[in-house]
Amino acid sequence: MTNSVKGKTSRRGFVKGAVGLVAAVPAAALLSGRRAYAEEMPKLTEDDAQAVALNYKHNAAEAPNAGEGQQCSTCQLFAGGDAEWGPCSLFHGKDVSSKGWCATWVQKAG
Ligand code: SF4
Repeated sequence: MTNSVKGKTSRRGFVKGAVGLVAAVPAAALLSGRRAYAEEMPKLTEDDAQAVALNYKHNAAEAPNAGEGQQCSTCQLFAGGDAEWGPCSLFHGKDVSSKGWCATWVQKAG
């Protein structure tokens, strides 16, 4: 009987711990995401090989193929929010200009 009670107690403790862990993981992910967001990454340069291949320009107005209203801030792949420069899932480790554009522009959902 003592073992059974102990077992319930430790199971309960385990469940509580697991619930706490599950709740803590998204919070930690959010915090680390927020930290990554605030960290400045190097800015993508227009002469970067991938940028050249995708016709990236810091200013969409200088990109002859950019359509009306097309710029990084309106692109689905831009993760910089309202920031002037921010991450793009296409150019890992480098920030792109929110006013920029490249040939992979995709209309932001919503
Ligand atoms: Fe900008 Fe979108 Fe091209 Fe990234 S994929 S550089 S956010 S237009």
